[in-house]
Amino acid sequence: MARTETNNLETSPVQGITFSLKPTPHFEIDGRQVAVIVTKSARAKKMKLKIRSNGSVELVLPKRASLKRGYEFVVSEKVWVARMVQNVEPSVAFAPGISLPILGIPHTLSHAPEMRRGVWQEDGNIFVSGEIAHFPRRLRDWIKREAKQILIRKVDYYAEKIDKPVRRITIRDQKSRWGSCSSAGNLNFSWRLLLMPEKVMSYIVAHEVAHLEHMNHSQEFWELVESLCPDMEESKHWLKMNGTSLHKYDTTI
Ligand SMILES: [Zn+2]
Repeated sequence: MARTETNNLETSPVQGITFSLKPTPHFEIDGRQVAVIVTKSARAKKMKLKIRSNGSVELVLPKRASLKRGYEFVVSEKVWVARMVQNVEPSVAFAPGISLPILGIPHTLSHAPEMRRGVWQEDGNIFVSGEIAHFPRRLRDWIKREAKQILIRKVDYYAEKIDKPVRRITIRDQKSRWGSCSSAGNLNFSWRLLLMPEKVMSYIVAHEVAHLEHMNHSQEFWELVESLCPDMEESKHWLKMNGTSLHKYDTTI
């Protein structure tokens, strides 16, 4: 009986985690390798652990903290790491049969090899014509184009409200942010915004456009965002709960 209990303990999540520095820092969690990446931050006051969207762990070290203490911290948080990593969804490649949300509504990806229509949306499907090898790229290009059309409309709408000129709108795949605004008045957005419910997309646009007026996150900034987007709290909550899962779609695999 005691032996069984010991065995149970050995296979419990806490016991099934090891940390090693070689060949590169990583955890092994129930047979799964989880990389630990160290970054130094001049702004960070305390050591911090983050789970990246690809499931690796990032240790953020304040400038003066030692690497040795950093790794001690990582090891002391191994139970938390194991729990968080388990929540990271595995990557999903764009392929026929996959469900992909467009403006928050699930669509099924379908291949139409015999057609010569590019990519189109019909009855809850996204059809992609041509050779299967080009399927992911064609779909991503289509998403970028669709996202850009909608985003331009929304940017114009909010920019006009606050009477600020916009220089250029670029669609990218920045994993770290949904959107950004440069002091020159250029706005960047992730194509993944097309996957979100439209009002969440609107909130992100209102947020970036508001940065044309306030290049910070001051109280005045948030008041401006709220005046443009009265239900921003709901969208912020949606992003907190669902944002990471939009990163599981990987167009490079
Ligand atoms: Zn911001």
